[in-house]
Parts: sequence; structure tokens; C-alpha cells
Amino acid sequence: MTGGNMEVIDLARQRNNPVYQLVALLEELGEAVAVTDRLAHLVHINLSAQRMLGIVGEEIAGASLAEWVEELAAAPNVELALSEYAMIPRGPNGERTVTLRQRNGGTNRADFLVCRTELGDAAICVCLFRDLSEINRAQEQMLDAQRLVRSILHNTSEGYVLIDASGMITDINPAFEAMCGRNAMDLLDSRFDRLFDGRDKKTIEGLVTKLEKGRTASAEIGFQGANGESRLGLFKGAPLFDARDERVGIFGLITDVTEAKERERKIEQLAYFDPLTELANRSLLRDKLEQATLFSQRSQRKFALLFLDLDRFKHVNDTYNHPLGDQVLQEVAQRIRQVVRRSDVVSRFGGDEFVIGLVEPKRIEDVALVAEKLLEIVARPVALDDKTVHITTSIGISVFPDDASSVDELIRNADLAMYQAKEEGRARYSYFTETLNDRVRRRREMERQMRQALENEEFVLHYQPKVDGNNGRIIGAEALIRWQSPAMGFVSPADFIPLAEETGMIVPIGEWVLKQASKQIREWKRQGLQLVPVAVNVSGMQLHHPEFKPQLQKMLAKSDMVTEWLELEITESTLMKDVELTIALLHELRGMGFMLSVDDFGTGYSSFSYLTRFPINILKIDQSFVCDLPDKKSAITIVSAIANMAKSLGLKTVAEGVETREQAEFLTRLGCDQLQGYFYSRPVPADDFARLLEKGAIVP
Ligand code: C2E
Ligand code: CA
Ligand code: CA
Repeated sequence: MTGGNMEVIDLARQRNNPVYQLVALLEELGEAVAVTDRLAHLVHINLSAQRMLGIVGEEIAGASLAEWVEELAAAPNVELALSEYAMIPRGPNGERTVTLRQRNGGTNRADFLVCRTELGDAAICVCLFRDLSEINRAQEQMLDAQRLVRSILHNTSEGYVLIDASGMITDINPAFEAMCGRNAMDLLDSRFDRLFDGRDKKTIEGLVTKLEKGRTASAEIGFQGANGESRLGLFKGAPLFDARDERVGIFGLITDVTEAKERERKIEQLAYFDPLTELANRSLLRDKLEQATLFSQRSQRKFALLFLDLDRFKHVNDTYNHPLGDQVLQEVAQRIRQVVRRSDVVSRFGGDEFVIGLVEPKRIEDVALVAEKLLEIVARPVALDDKTVHITTSIGISVFPDDASSVDELIRNADLAMYQAKEEGRARYSYFTETLNDRVRRRREMERQMRQALENEEFVLHYQPKVDGNNGRIIGAEALIRWQSPAMGFVSPADFIPLAEETGMIVPIGEWVLKQASKQIREWKRQGLQLVPVAVNVSGMQLHHPEFKPQLQKMLAKSDMVTEWLELEITESTLMKDVELTIALLHELRGMGFMLSVDDFGTGYSSFSYLTRFPINILKIDQSFVCDLPDKKSAITIVSAIANMAKSLGLKTVAEGVETREQAEFLTRLGCDQLQGYFYSRPVPADDFARLLEKGAIVP
């Protein structure tokens, strides 16, 4: 399609012409270049331009550029149009862009540079195409991304803010507007720190410094909430840079962490503090003590631990009520805090136990002083409502590292020392000592062995007859436990029963005794022997244990013989412990059919009026009086008084520890119903006792 007025221009023959060299250079630079005559007929077109215009091959020479460039096609005068393009300066509005017709029917925008020049005599146009679609797409994508980010930020529940390089707010999102109850109009173009309520100036300064240095920064900053209340926000800021790496502003996210912080605080409170007294709890105590031990090891300085246990606090709870007990504990906590320094640790360790770590090293010298102050301040009457409560405390003291090498050991040993203080009479303090430790170690070992003894059936019951002094007839027996330990040999009940009481082992041991005794009674019955009531010792701890009654009921369910032939011996001191509680309990036991006797009578200071209220059957005169008979006057007086009192109350009497004929005769004359002691028989194994029963009487 060669146009009639086409000038024949042979570019290749003009190699020395600067235009030729310009075109070559442009091509070298990868530009899409076409050369036309002044009427836009193609003289030359390079590969890039062919690709852009969708032209194949050079055979297209002579065709008009207007076939591809819409603007040229539309121009009434192509030559004029071309020369106009050559004159348009490069401008920001894309004035030189043209629409290229694609072979597939589509269009494509391109920058169109035209340079009109002379080649020999002919005027030519060097045309340069720059594809805009690629650039456009990238730009569009960037705009899209910005729009997306902005829409995300505007819809997120986190507050977001944009700040320019001079510290002015240039954008905030609705979430932040809602958080602080202000609208964007109010905040835009104001200073960044207006976002906050001004109480954390220092924090904000620090934050800004960091951001200005081009680092990210975050901080918790107070701001005013929608209703004017003060709230806490977590501000996270990141500096923004432009393409030349210059800081152009700050991008900030603000989250309202008021509730989260409060929750955190509460959880911490729960995790580390006792809710009732607000003192540290065990885990905080442990933490602080661990720190103290580390410090002590580094600094070679000692620190002390005080273990407080309120004396007879259970009594306070029983007599009054639990809310009042709680108030007492709160008051005590308050008082302890007055005595120790802030740097010391005060914790509520358990019910009525408090542990104080005097971790300030200077205080080690005056531990005793602190202990004395504590004793005094706790002992002051506690006035609550209309009541006044008197309470004392016992304190155990242990010292790190003298008494322990670990926190656990330190606490344990202060606890032991506290028990020592209790044993010494309460309302006092006691230091931990090695001997105390030994004793405890022995006890623990003993406890372990008692447990084993039950499993291995190392316990046996011996039976000691009770005799009618007038004729030597056996009219009763007392079951006494014996421990034949393979490791320790014979262990006296006087040694292990008190320990079993302390450790609680008395409960399973006591159960075993009851079962064993009733089994024995059934066995003797099976052997056709004349049965006598068998007394079983019940210790205080056992009596009040919640398992005790159910144990008896289970036995009753098995055999009703049990109540007929089992007697329960309870010491006088046990009865006097929780009088009201015990009276109720004894009534229940009587109701079940058991005979009850008061053991070691005369040692427990029970008053006559109490005795009348206990539903008891028998008084056992303590052997300490019996052994002084018949010579010692005081013994005669006491034993006679007990015998008379028993008679007037309708109670039977048993004298225990009868060792001589004189004692036996004296007691019989006094009207004592039963005599028990070595004079008649030592406690003997069940088979031996069966032989005694066969005989029926003992006449020494
Ligand atoms: P207890 O209940 O006062 O028992 C009487 C103690 O006096 C027994 O010591 C007995 O052997 C001893 N005895 C008996 N006749 C004489 C005598 O003529 N002279 C002397 N000097 N002593 C005599 P035992 O068997 O060593 O028991 C000591 C304590 O152990 C008992 O005192 C009792 O409190 C406790 N016990 C023994 N068996 C049991 C038991 O099965 N359960 C409970 N809870 N305690 C028991
Ligand atoms: Ca007894
Ligand atoms: Ca006794």
C-alpha cells in the first residue's frame, strides 16, 4: 500500500548521516523507533516498535503510521498532526500520549515522541513509542494496594493514625474516633500528642525520640475514653519512609488495653496474693524466698524466716463464726504488716498460718526482737462489732543458710520450730535447732514404719484381765496393742501411740484394733469360752475423726455382739478437750450400745458438774494414784474421793496398775469394782488370755 505522494527515502544509504546514528542509538537503548516521511509513511521500523504496533516484517514499508495511531488517523492533515506532536513539550498531563490500535482489535496507550528533521533533502520524522500500559498497570496496582490498606485500616477495630513528618495527624480511622469519642475533624491537623490525655508525657517523649530516629516503638499511654474516663492504650508506631528513604511520617496503631490490663492485674492478684488478707500467697512467698537465697549466697548474708501459727484459732472459728474468724485473720495480717518492713515478705501460708521472710539482711540481728513484737501485737485484743477476741500466736524461726540449704527446708524447719513453741506452751517463739531436726527425722521414719507395720501385720493385741478383788474372778479385759517390729524390736505403745496421734496414723491403727478385738471376741465365743467385756482404748484424735463413727457402724452391721462385749476407754483429758462436742458424740456412742469408761481418771481436772453430763459407765482410777497406795495420804484421799463420787453417780470403778496385795485389799475394801494390774496378770497374748478365761479366776 504505497501512497502516491511518498518520498522515497533510503535510510540505509545514509549511514554517515547523524539522523541514522540517532536512530541506531535509540534502538540500541531498546526504544521502539519508527521513521516516517513527513506524511507518516513508514520508512523504517525497528523490532520493538513492530512488536508494540503488531506489525510483522519490513514489507510494511510505505504504509501510513495513521493505520496504527488513532490520533493520526483522526487528524484531517497528517503532516500537520505529526509536526504538532513534534512541538508538544513533555508535560505532566500525557499530552503526547496516543492510542495505538492493536491487531486483535484492542487499544493500547503509549507515549508518542516525534522529532522532525531533515535527511538529505527530505523531511523525516523520527517517532518514538513508549508503552504506557505497563506503567499504568503498576501504578494502578499501587493505588489498589493503597486503597486496600486504607480500607483495612479504616475498618479494623484497632485505632490507626497517620502522622506527618512535622508531627501532625493526617489520618485517623473510625475505630480510633470511637475509642476516644472524638471525630476526625477535631483531630486532623492537630499535634500527635493530642491523641493522649497528657498523663504520660515522659513516655510519649521517649516514644517520639525513637520514632524520629527511624526505629519502631511502642508504649502504653493513657488516653481519654469516649465518656471522659481515663483509659490505657497500647500505641505501636512505625516510621514511614519515601522512595528516597526520607522519613515522611509515622504510622501508628492504638489498641485499648484497659480491660486486658485490669484482667492481667486481677489474674496476677489471684496468682500471687491471698484474697482474704491481700498478703502474698505461697507462690509469691516462694519466689521471693528463692531470690533471697540467691542474694544471700552472693552476699554471704543471712536471712530469717518466721513461721506463725495462731494458737487455738479453731476455737475462735468454733465459738464465733467463720466471717468473724476471717475478720480476725485480716486484723492479724494488718498487724503483722505494721511490724515488718516493706522489703520483707509477709504471706498467708494456710488457714491461720503466716510466714514472714525477714529478707532485709540487716534484720537478722533483731529477729528475736521482731518475733517479740509480733507476739505482743497479735496478743492485743481484737475488737470486732460487740465482741472482743483474744488470740495469741506461736512462732518458729529458721535462718538461711544455717538451718537449711533450700527454701523448702527453710520453711519446713521454721514450721518444726513453731511446733516446738506450741509444745512449750504456745504464745512464744522458738528457734530451729538440729536436735529438733533429728527428732523430726526419727518421727518421719517411725511414721513410715508404722504404715508398713499395718501392712505386714506386725501389730498384735495383748489382753490384760480385770478382776473382782473379792474372789479373783475375771470380769473384764483391756486390749493393749503391741508392735513387734523386725527393724526396731519391741516398740512400746507409750512410744508410738502419741506419734500415731500426731501423724494421723492412729486412725487406721485404731480401726485395726477395733476389728482385731471384735474378731478375737467372736473367736473366744466360737471356742465356747465365758466371754467378758473387752475394753479398747480410743484416742482423742481417733474419737473426733470423721471416719470413727462409720467404722463402728460398719462393725455393728457385721455383728451385734460387738456392742455387748466391747467397751470404749477414753482418757479424761480427751473428754475435757471439746466438752460440748464430746458430750454429743458420747451420747451417740451410748446410743449405739457401747459401754464407755473414762481412762486415767484423776489426771484430767474434770469437774463434778461435767462428769454428770457425760453419758459414761465406768471410771478408771489412774495408776499414778494406785501406786502410792496404801501408804501415801494424798493418794488415799484422792482414791477414796473418786470411789465415793463414782458411787454417788452410779458409776463403776476400775483401779489400774494394781501391783501389790496391799493395794488390792485396800481398793477392794474401798468398794472398787474391778482391779487391773501386774498383781493379777500382765497383758498377755490372746491364747494365754483364753487359758485364763478357761480357769475363770486368778488368785495370786
Ligand atoms: P493405758 O490405757 O493407761 O493402759 C494401761 C497401761 O498400764 C498399759 O501399758 C499396761 O500394760 C500398763 N499396766 C497394766 N498393769 C500395770 C501395773 O500393774 N503396773 C504398771 N506399772 N503398769 C501396768 P501399755 O500396754 O504399755 O500401754 C500404754 C498406753 O498405750 C496405754 O495406757 C494406752 O494409753 C496406750 N494404748 C495401748 N494400746 C492402745 C490401743 O490399742 N489404742 C490406743 N489408742 N491406745 C493404746
Ligand atoms: Ca486404757
Ligand atoms: Ca490408764
